[in-house]
Amino acid sequence: MKTIGLIGGMSWESTIPYYSVINKYVGSKLGGLHSAKIILYSVEFYELEKYMSAGEWDRITEILADAAVKLEKAGADVILICTNTMHKLFPVIREKISVPMIHIADATADELERHGFKRAALLGTKYTMTEDFYKSRLTDRGFEVLIPEEKDIEIVNRVIFEELCCGIIKDSSREAYSEIIAKLKEKGAEAVILGCTEIGILIKQEDSVLPAFDTTIIHAESAARFALDA
Ligand code: GLU
Repeated sequence: MKTIGLIGGMSWESTIPYYSVINKYVGSKLGGLHSAKIILYSVEFYELEKYMSAGEWDRITEILADAAVKLEKAGADVILICTNTMHKLFPVIREKISVPMIHIADATADELERHGFKRAALLGTKYTMTEDFYKSRLTDRGFEVLIPEEKDIEIVNRVIFEELCCGIIKDSSREAYSEIIAKLKEKGAEAVILGCTEIGILIKQEDSVLPAFDTTIIHAESAARFALDA
C-alpha cells in the first residue's frame, strides 16, 4: 500500500473528512483491521488566510511547498492539497517535489465525466469561483462552468470563512446555499460541484436540487484508490 501525504488544516474542519473517507475506502476494499497509511502536515490557517486576503500568494506558496517537501521526505508516495482554493498554487508546488500530486479539480472532472454531466455549477471561495485557475481545469476538458451571481458569491464566500471554517453550521446558511443551487439549476446547470472542502459539512445531497459532487470525498477517494492501485 502506498503512503498518502496530506497538506491539511485549511481549514482543519475539512481535513477530518479526508482522514475518515480515505480510511473507510481502504477498509471497504481490504476489510477487517485494514487502514490507510497517511502522513498529515496541518498548517496554521490563520496566517494563511491573512496572506490570502492581502494577496500575498508567494508567502503561501513558500509555506505549502515546504510542507510538500517535508511530506515527500517523510515518505509520502502521493501528495494532496486538502483545499480547492490553494490549488491556485498547484503548478508551483508540483515542481518542488518528485512524487505525484492529485489535483482536486481533475479528480472532480473525472467524476463528472463518469456521470455524463457537461454543465456544472461551481460553489467555493470567491477565489475559486471568480478566478481562472480552477475553472480552466474543467473548461479545458470541455465542461461548462456556471457560478452564482455577484451577491450570491459574497454569501457563499462569507459562510465558508466566517462559519464553516470555524465549525459553525447554521440552518439559515444551508437554506441560502440550497436556494443558490436552485437558481443555478434554472440557469441550466446539470450538477453542482461543492468546490470548497468545507461545503460538504453543510450541504448534503438532500439539500441540493442538483446532483452534488463533494470535492472532499472525491479527492480523498481518489487518493485511496491510488494508494491501493485500485
Ligand atoms: N477549504 C476551502 C477550499 O476548499 C477554503 C479554505 C482555503 O482558502 O483554502 O477552498
